[in-house]
Amino acid sequence: MNDCVFCKIVAAEIPSEKVYEDADTLAFLDIKPNSPGHTLVIPKKHSENLYDIDDHSLATVMRTVQRVAIALKKAVQAEGINIAMNNERAAGQIIFHPHLHIIPRFAEDGYRHWPKKDYKEGEAAAVAQKIRAAL
Ligand code: ZN
Repeated sequence: MNDCVFCKIVAAEIPSEKVYEDADTLAFLDIKPNSPGHTLVIPKKHSENLYDIDDHSLATVMRTVQRVAIALKKAVQAEGINIAMNNERAAGQIIFHPHLHIIPRFAEDGYRHWPKKDYKEGEAAAVAQKIRAAL
């Protein structure tokens, strides 16, 4: 069909450590976890990322993310959970099939939030207007 690694995982042509599966979605462990239990949730239907995923796949993926996140938190006794989705190379996307990361977090795990910046005078209003115009 194609060379998509995640489509091959769905087809079981590449092995994975599955934690959940239903008709539309699959959840499996990231092979390079930020911490043990770091899980990826994907739609079974191929697309590239957030921009072109169909409504049904998006809805079912988010339902699976919630279900697995709650189970994962319990399983590893996480103190928090990050949900992340990288879209396009500039944002760190490596596999071009939509996937959400569920990352268990702990108060002392050493990770920090991304650095924050301040807006210049008028910059927030200008960028908000650009976003509204693009919708
Ligand atoms: Zn794919």
